[in-house]
Amino acid sequence: MAKADFYGVLEVDHQASADEIKKAYRKLAIKYHPDKNKGDQQAEEKFKEVSEAYAVLSNAEKRASYDRFGHAAAGPGNFSGGFDFDLSDALRMFMEGGFGGFADIFGGRQMASERAQRGSDLQISLKLTLEEISKGVSKKIKISKLKACDECHGSGAAGNSKPSTCPTCQGRGEVRRVSRSFLGQFIQASTCPECIGSGEIIRDKCLVCHGEGRAKGEVTLSVNIPAGVQAGNYLSLRGEGNVGLRGGPAGDVYVVIDQKKHDDFERHGDDTIYRLFISFPQAALGDDVEVPTLHGRVKINIPTGIQSGKVLRLRGKGIRHLNSAGHGDQLVIVNVYTPRKLSEKERNLFEELAKCDGITPKAEEKSFLDKLKNAFRT
Ligand SMILES: [Zn+2]
Ligand SMILES: [Zn+2]
Repeated sequence: MAKADFYGVLEVDHQASADEIKKAYRKLAIKYHPDKNKGDQQAEEKFKEVSEAYAVLSNAEKRASYDRFGHAAAGPGNFSGGFDFDLSDALRMFMEGGFGGFADIFGGRQMASERAQRGSDLQISLKLTLEEISKGVSKKIKISKLKACDECHGSGAAGNSKPSTCPTCQGRGEVRRVSRSFLGQFIQASTCPECIGSGEIIRDKCLVCHGEGRAKGEVTLSVNIPAGVQAGNYLSLRGEGNVGLRGGPAGDVYVVIDQKKHDDFERHGDDTIYRLFISFPQAALGDDVEVPTLHGRVKINIPTGIQSGKVLRLRGKGIRHLNSAGHGDQLVIVNVYTPRKLSEKERNLFEELAKCDGITPKAEEKSFLDKLKNAFRT
């Protein structure tokens, strides 16, 4: 597929100034940002396209080359010469462009924030009731995490002092070591031990955060949990985790769903299971009873002669499906309750009943009951 003209992508003309290109990129990147267009594949493609166009046109050298040779400048296919411009590159460029100056991500001077260590991810567990899971719920969660230091605004430097270039790595953030073996010469790059990759050292450290640029604090996050989630499902909140050292990008927060035990129901997929106990007379004579469901109490009919173990299905009274319309069912398992203690009168009545002909199962009844048992084993 032929690539669209980079100027066209950014909706600027060929004489556009660097400033106009930057403004155009900002406007379009915000418009198509995946956080604003959740699940929209087309917007994501646009976002990547806009980002790639900006990456080239914001660099004077690349732009000049592109003006002369077009997309063929760096060989067939990709302008940036084998650099696969994927979503995470686009997002990173947007993040870094959003705070302070834009810089070239394709080489030349490498950006400090790109080298800076990303903050760690946080994982929190969120316990929900079956009622909340059934309908979906919005929750506010208080978490403690590392935030940018209020005193130095994340720089780690005291007062108005500025960090200086790290003498060990000359600001590159990494040190190279040449090693030789019989296969040839290798250059190994590793994170600079003096500046821990930031390329800068702080001589006059902020007294509050001791040069880290971050401090413990509390934040409240809002999360929308869709209906039908299961224990172990998680949501990721991008950029809500610990901030990195000295203004480094923040990690993510993972909210892992857990399910509280319910007094009345067990969960089986999107179905709820409720165990109903009825008396001998109710089983023999039939009755109308009320049972609880996640959708309020529901009246059900106990048919005459119901057997213990019979399952009655209440359609649509279970948990809403996560990825499709509709609800699961509620399964009511009927149990016939045997009294544990009998009064004199009850004992007499049972003894009377025991003499009756229809009270004990016959051979054909037994085979019917076996069938019933087998039906629920599968
Ligand atoms: Zn500080
Ligand atoms: Zn260094």
